[in-house]
Amino acid sequence: MPGKISEILDSAAAIAKGMSVTFGEMMSPTVTEDYPDTPPKFQERYRGRHILRRDENGLEKCVACFLCSVACPADCIYIEAADNTELVRISGSERYARVYNIDYSRCIFCGYCVEACPTDAITHGHGFELAAYDTSTLICRKEQLLEASPAKS
Ligand code: SF4
Ligand code: SF4
Repeated sequence: MPGKISEILDSAAAIAKGMSVTFGEMMSPTVTEDYPDTPPKFQERYRGRHILRRDENGLEKCVACFLCSVACPADCIYIEAADNTELVRISGSERYARVYNIDYSRCIFCGYCVEACPTDAITHGHGFELAAYDTSTLICRKEQLLEASPAKS
C-alpha cells in the first residue's frame, strides 16, 4: 500500500510539472507567425528571390556582362545579351540583357551572383513563396525579376 501511495504522488508531481510548463507557455509571448494572414518579418540579410535593379534614370543596371552567370555554382542563370541603340536604350551601358532567366529549381541562394555583379544590378529580395508542383514554373524571366520602372511604380 505505501508503494501505491508513492506511485500516486509521483504521478501527481509529474502532472503538476507538465501543467506548469503548459501554463507558463500560455502566458509567454507568441513567437510563431500567423502566416499567411500576417506577413512574415525578415532580417535585412535574408536571401530570397532576386531583384534586377534600375538606376536613378529608370534604366536597367544589368549590362549583360555574364559575370553572375559564370559565378553561379548551380548554373541556373541564363542570359542573352543585346546592344542598346540610339532609338532604344534599355541600360546605361553598351549592352543589356534581352533575356535574363533564373531557374529557382536549381538556385541555392548562395549569393555569389550578387557578389559578382559589378553594377549592383542583381540583389536578393525577400520573396520566399517559390514552391510549385511543376518545376518548369520555377524559371523566372527578367520581366518577373525586374524592379518596377519609377514611372510605373
Ligand atoms: S544565388 Fe547562387 S545559385 Fe542562386 S542564382 Fe545566384 S549564384 Fe546561382
Ligand atoms: S546582373 Fe550584373 S553580373 Fe549579371 S550580367 Fe547583369 S551586370 Fe553582369
